[in-house]
Parts: sequence; structure tokens; C-alpha cells
Amino acid sequence: MDFNDSTSEAEFRGQVRTWLDTHAKGFMSPNDDADVDTFIAKAKAWQAKKAREGYAAIRWPKAEGGLDGTPMQEVIFQDEESRHDVPVGPFVTIGTQLAVPTLRTHGTPEQIEQFTQPTLRGELLWCQLFSEPSAGSDLANVRTRAVKDGDDWVINGQKVWTSWAHVADWGILLARTDPEATKHKGLTFFVVDMRSVGVEVRPIQQVSGVSEFNEVFLTDLRIPDRYRVGAVGDGWKCAMTTLMNERVNVGGESQALPNVLELIERAQDRSTGASLDRFKMAQLLTQEMGLRYFRFRLLTSLSKGETPGPIAAMSKLVYANTLQELSAMALDVTGLPGLQAEGDKFQHGYEWAAALRIAGGTDEILRNQIAERVLGMPGEIRVDKNIPFSQCR
Ligand SMILES: Cc1cc2nc3c(=O)[nH]c(=O)nc-3n(C[C@H](O)[C@H](O)[C@H](O)COP(=O)(O)OP(=O)(O)OC[C@H]3O[C@@H](n4cnc5c(N)ncnc54)[C@H](O)[C@@H]3O)c2cc1C
Repeated sequence: MDFNDSTSEAEFRGQVRTWLDTHAKGFMSPNDDADVDTFIAKAKAWQAKKAREGYAAIRWPKAEGGLDGTPMQEVIFQDEESRHDVPVGPFVTIGTQLAVPTLRTHGTPEQIEQFTQPTLRGELLWCQLFSEPSAGSDLANVRTRAVKDGDDWVINGQKVWTSWAHVADWGILLARTDPEATKHKGLTFFVVDMRSVGVEVRPIQQVSGVSEFNEVFLTDLRIPDRYRVGAVGDGWKCAMTTLMNERVNVGGESQALPNVLELIERAQDRSTGASLDRFKMAQLLTQEMGLRYFRFRLLTSLSKGETPGPIAAMSKLVYANTLQELSAMALDVTGLPGLQAEGDKFQHGYEWAAALRIAGGTDEILRNQIAERVLGMPGEIRVDKNIPFSQCR
């Protein structure tokens, strides 16, 4: 394990810092996040800036807008970028990190041509139309139907938890084309123009007052066959490419999230009389340090050109739980009014941790993954795997 940047990594970090100092400082003005349209316009502008320098797709060939870089350089960029107040998040990365890599693996040359560069430049935003009321952890349970009609597919069904669908131009959609095939075999992958007739986006109001997720109702939506991705029935294979990209996340520890030492400082600052449980703080600090060194280990393997694989799931599992406990302790220390200060790190942590324990694989699903794929324990019993989907209950 080597905690230091190699000579070339240090050189790249220096180059990134200089660029960010010039372009990221002062990029956001005070009211830029006050309404969603202004915020999204800023996010698109920031993405376009990165694309011009090759920072939007560091690992891609230079001829395609990248830097011919390494996964480690990508992590260095994320690390340095997270130190600045710039608009990055799923509204952009669903396109750049999920949709486009899936299209580049399974799409036609025309699809790759139409979507890659505009997405990289932030001109097209995407959403992920996978989850449904009865298909989340068990994603292969998707019930949204796609029926061929001439050169089109006619889609009917409902999606839920679709992040940023209200600002998306395009969506990646998983739908069932053959209910008589087994659960995983009867699915097909499409791209959807979110402004089509038959797409209705209904925002879900969150406890924080904002709306980042949506229900999406698809009613007699027509998708031309040229927007089918991969072969009919190969939707699961395409979706796995998307999910692998979602789960390989060993990126920067966000500077926007709190840590144990900050909580101790906050407790000392306040005269609330609330005291911190010293054993609990020691335990959280141990978890935090464990995560930090685990992350170094993942980075070292990336730096050597290896792929971390299913072991990376441990990082998200422990991190989300640590963040939730830590933020809950901050609530005890400051009381509710203290947490409600605008932009408070602990408030953000408290709200975000609950979502993080579900998104990209719930705690239980990650534990299953670790048990089966890291520890080699017997697989869960899956009784519906080899029967037609129409017979699944
Ligand atoms: C912040 C956030 C953003 C999201 N964005 C999107 C998006 O843009 N697009 C999209 O398609 N989806 C999105 N989702 C949905 C997300 O993928 C699902 O919420 C997730 O897969 C869990 O599915 P579910 O909510 O249906 O819960 P369920 O799968 O119904 O799970 C309910 C409970 O049962 C447990 N459970 C389920 N199966 C097992 C099992 N086999 N063994 C043990 N326990 C089990 C789960 O761990 C959980 O505690 C988002 C979710 C969040 C929180």
C-alpha cells in the first residue's frame, strides 16, 4: 500500500489544482442555486468547461474528447474538484458515467455519434428509468411493457425514484419485451426522449422541501426501433453495464460532508450542555480512519491498473452508516434549530445518509454481495430464476 502520489500523479494533481484555481474559484455566484433552472444552467456551463480541457472524460482517447488518462487521474480530479463549490452531481453524471458508457458498449454507431459528445459537453442531461414500485433491489422484476408496433415500440408502465427526470432531456429505460421468457431474459434496453408525448414526470416532494426524484408515467409512449440499445432480450446485459458503472465508485471523500473531528469542535463551541458519548466517538473515528485507509487500498489497486471489484461495496456500506450515526449525534449536540442553518454540513449529512443507504444498492443487498462474491458464501435461494416471468408471483 502506497499513500503517496507517484511522480506522474503528483504532476497531474498540480496541473488540475492550477486549472481549478483559475476556473472553479468564484464560478458559483451567491444565488445560483436558488432556483433549479439557474442551477442547471450553471451545471451545464461547468461541464462544458471541463469537456473543453478533456477533464470530462479523462480516461477516454484524446481524439474523443478525453486525456488518454488513467482511472487514478480521474479520482485525483474528483478529489480536487470536491474542494470547490461547483455544480456537480447526478444531474450530469447519470449521462456521463451511466448512459454514455452503456451506449459505448452496446449502442449502434449512430447512437454513439448522436449522444456521446453532446452529453460530454453538458448539452444533454439524462435520467435512469430503471426502478419501479415492485422492481428496486430485484430490478429484474420490471413490469413496464414494450410491445413492437411497426417500426416503433409502444411503452406502458410506471417508474419511480427517477432522479432528475424533471430536468432530463433523455432517459435510459429498461422494459419487458417478452413476459414468457425468464425474468432476466425478457428485458430490452431503450433510450427515451423525455419530451415525447406519453411521458409524464411527477416530482416527489422530499422532507428537505426540494424535489430531486420523480415518478414517471409512460402511457402509449412510442419509441422508434433505432433507439433500442442492444438486441431484443439483452436488456439485462445492458443494465448490468450501467449498474457496474454506478457501483464502481471509489471517488473523492466529499469536502461537503462532515467528519468526527468537526463534530467534536462543534460540541466544544456550544454551551448546550450536551455531551458526547466518548466511546461512540472513538468507534466512529475508528470507522472513519478504517474507511480512509480502505480507500487508499482501492486507490492503490486502481493506480496499478487493477479493478477493485465487489470488495468496493464495503466502502459505501460502512460510509453511509458512519455518516448517518455521526449526523444523528450532531443533532443531539446542536438540537434541531442548530442543524437547520442554511448549508449546514451535518444537516446535509443527516438528510443524505438515509438516501445513500438505499441508492446504488441497499445495505442488505451490499451485504449479500459481499457475502456471496467476496466471502464465497452460498448464494441466496432464487426460486423465480428459471420460470417464465408471466408465472412469477
Ligand atoms: C437517492 C436515490 C436516488 C435514486 N435514483 C434512482 C434513479 O435515478 N433511477 C432509478 O431507476 N432508481 C433510483 N433509485 C431507486 C433505487 O435504485 C432503489 O430505491 C433501490 O434499488 C432499492 O429498491 P426499493 O426502494 O424498491 O426497495 P426494495 O428493493 O423494495 O427493498 C426494501 C427493503 O427490503 C430489503 N431487501 C430487498 N431485497 C432483499 C434481499 N434479497 N435480501 C435482504 N433484504 C432485501 C432492502 O434492503 C430494503 O431494506 C434511487 C434511490 C435513492 C435512494
